[in-house]
Amino acid sequence: MTQTATSSSAPTFDIAVIGAGVIGLTHALELAWAGQKVVIIDQEAPGLGTSFGNAGHIGNEQLDPLASPSTFRNLLGYLLQKDAAVSFRWAHAMAALPWMIRFGLSCRKGQYHKGLKALSALQADSLPAWADLLTRCGAPDLLISQGNYMVVETEAALARGRAEQRHLSELGVACNWLEAHEMREHLPHARHAMAGGIRFHKSGHVANPYRVSQALETAFRAAGGHVHQARVEAITPLDSGVRIDHTGGHIWAGKALICAGAWSHHLARPLGLHLPLETERGYHLHWEKVNAPFDCPIGFFERRILMTPMGEDLRMTGGTELGGLSAPPTPKHMTALKYHAAAVIPQYEANSAKTWMGYRPSLPDFVPAMGRLKADPRVFISTGHQHLGLTLGAVSARAMRDLILERPPALDMNAYNPHRFHTL
Ligand SMILES: Cc1cc2nc3c(=O)[nH]c(=O)nc-3n(C[C@H](O)[C@H](O)[C@H](O)COP(=O)(O)OP(=O)(O)OC[C@H]3O[C@@H](n4cnc5c(N)ncnc54)[C@H](O)[C@@H]3O)c2cc1C
Repeated sequence: MTQTATSSSAPTFDIAVIGAGVIGLTHALELAWAGQKVVIIDQEAPGLGTSFGNAGHIGNEQLDPLASPSTFRNLLGYLLQKDAAVSFRWAHAMAALPWMIRFGLSCRKGQYHKGLKALSALQADSLPAWADLLTRCGAPDLLISQGNYMVVETEAALARGRAEQRHLSELGVACNWLEAHEMREHLPHARHAMAGGIRFHKSGHVANPYRVSQALETAFRAAGGHVHQARVEAITPLDSGVRIDHTGGHIWAGKALICAGAWSHHLARPLGLHLPLETERGYHLHWEKVNAPFDCPIGFFERRILMTPMGEDLRMTGGTELGGLSAPPTPKHMTALKYHAAAVIPQYEANSAKTWMGYRPSLPDFVPAMGRLKADPRVFISTGHQHLGLTLGAVSARAMRDLILERPPALDMNAYNPHRFHTL
């Protein structure tokens, strides 16, 4: 598998996929099923990056890119919120400044509408694509299609909550508004305040994101795929193929696909792609064997947190922190999550939960970057799936398989052009 680096070496693999998160795994699997000889290279075992600890929500109701006029209007309020729902580390502020400027530009109406169109096109099939993929993996039970709720706790937020529901309905999202008494009927065990809420009918969640990664890896190996554990240091296109330099040597492939999540821009930059990728760090609390008394994800509108039942376990996620890739977790985010847990699920001891932090790979317009690199037509990238990497994994994998294998595309891939920021 690992070969001596000479430009005359014949490629051992058709395609090398760098990164074994939910994006790399779904993409590698679709390519292997299409008859390609594929290797995945990751510095860790598959599924242990950001894809390990997310909320497990197949959030197909999230059509709106976060870069929007409304986010821009409310940004100061979010930043000033005491419970640290949105924040940035001061030490990282200068490094993140170009991203923030681009984010501001992406919030303009015209850019927002472009993003909305691009995300809506992916979301249209995000849940059916997962149903299909997990069925083919022999693990259909990992997907639960029970919809989800968004709780509005206070009278003060009712008008905004209702407006959000109307806006999403207008965009075609299957959802309706529930009054306080209806929320009580739907969620009889809730101990938190409920002034009203939104019922989303067509979204889903997974039994556990890591188990999804394991199912994808098993199916990938069964389809003849190879997994190689090493840190990739460079990707070099040469006449006879693409050489992947890693910590233990080299791998030769006909093509390379970068799916390295929040680290992808480091691998793409030497190839001429300057991707303005930032990480939005997010946190979770995870309780084992508590059997939550609800069967689908519940979001909290004012708190900006999400709780998801995962089999017998329960997970709460929150926090959006522009924090870079090297600093330790910021304690105030974990404190904030524990504060929310004590308020909405007092029956579970917050200090008994496992804690985790991960790195959302986010571009300033909140649209993934999926396409071919200008520098060499044999090198591709799929990253920037922000808060929706699990949701969009299966549908993105199909789109990239078609692009890489030069099949007729089901989507207009121009919308996800990784080079689009060069002209913004
Ligand atoms: C708190 C939180 C909650 C979330 N909730 C949801 C949710 O409910 N629904 C949803 O759809 N999304 C959610 N997300 C977002 C989702 O988790 C991410 O978008 C997704 O995991 C990104 O997947 P990925 O494969 O791109 O990245 P990762 O899972 O991070 O995988 C990237 C991989 O690349 C590897 N890698 C990087 N550099 C190299 C290198 N040089 N050499 C070798 N390997 C390398 C890493 O080791 C890693 O394994 C959430 C995220 C967070 C943080």
